[in-house]
Amino acid sequence: MAERRRIRPLDALVSPRFTQIATFARLPHDRNLTDVDAAFLGIPFDDGTTYRTGARVGPGAIREQSRLLRPYNMILDVSPFEVLNVLDYGDVDVVPGSHAKTARAIEDTLATLLEAGVAPLIAGGDHSITLPVLRALRRVHGPVHLLHFDSHFDFWDQYWGERYTHGTWLRRALEEGLLGRVGQLGIRGPQFTPDDLRYADEHHLHVVPIAELAENPKKAVGRVLEAVPAREPLYVSWDIDVVDPAYAMATGTPEVGGLTSREALDVVRTLSGHRLVGVDIVEVSPLYEGPGAVTALLAANLFYEFLSVMAKNAVAGLPAF
Ligand code: MN
Ligand code: MN
Repeated sequence: MAERRRIRPLDALVSPRFTQIATFARLPHDRNLTDVDAAFLGIPFDDGTTYRTGARVGPGAIREQSRLLRPYNMILDVSPFEVLNVLDYGDVDVVPGSHAKTARAIEDTLATLLEAGVAPLIAGGDHSITLPVLRALRRVHGPVHLLHFDSHFDFWDQYWGERYTHGTWLRRALEEGLLGRVGQLGIRGPQFTPDDLRYADEHHLHVVPIAELAENPKKAVGRVLEAVPAREPLYVSWDIDVVDPAYAMATGTPEVGGLTSREALDVVRTLSGHRLVGVDIVEVSPLYEGPGAVTALLAANLFYEFLSVMAKNAVAGLPAF
């Protein structure tokens, strides 16, 4: 049998970090999925936004800021790129102005990755991209459990008569039977009506308000995932606006009172031991970024923590993706 392909980021001590074309974590841009465990995928679509647009340029900004990542995760004690073969798969060819056509393109690309046993690390794009991702996941894994980190519920029925937006994807996913257990973590801010809270109760969504998440992330995640066996597939959808706009101002629908960047990293680390089959980070909208591009920098580091969790799981012998 042929030897396993070895894929690694560029060595910063040979090729300095500020050199070369920006790919995620300076990994090769490649579509050969042989021996690949996880792939970064950009979905630059933002026609699902209901307030400020701009998330279509999120993936490029995250790639640019991911130059700074280093090989060893000291907190989780793992070198993710030594354990997992990871590459940058590029972007989905989205269709500006058409959620339906874009959704089909997303589902096709995800099917290719998932059928090859590759865990997707998806950079949005606005939150409407998660619905076709969940459709593709269901085809391969059956209904997945979902941890949805967000300041918003995202389960409204429609906006101005439109049913496929970044604020309605979760309701569509529930209607389509794509999900197992669902947790919504980090919820805060003013709502339209008290009915919003009622919908969560009626549909058995496990809502974790921001204070509870920030205070004890391990307990909060544990409460959502109690009774979920560690070997069952879990997907994480992370809206960057769960983080406080002081740390992540570059987003379309900011809500004050969110996680700090350090709390956000801690939250991700608590997921070790759960079978993470994929993750998205959405709503990074670099047009509203301040100097230093801290929002995209945080998103790059969150991806690194998710990858480190996947690598730790692989070392511990949890089933592959
Ligand atoms: Mn949100
Ligand atoms: Mn959202």
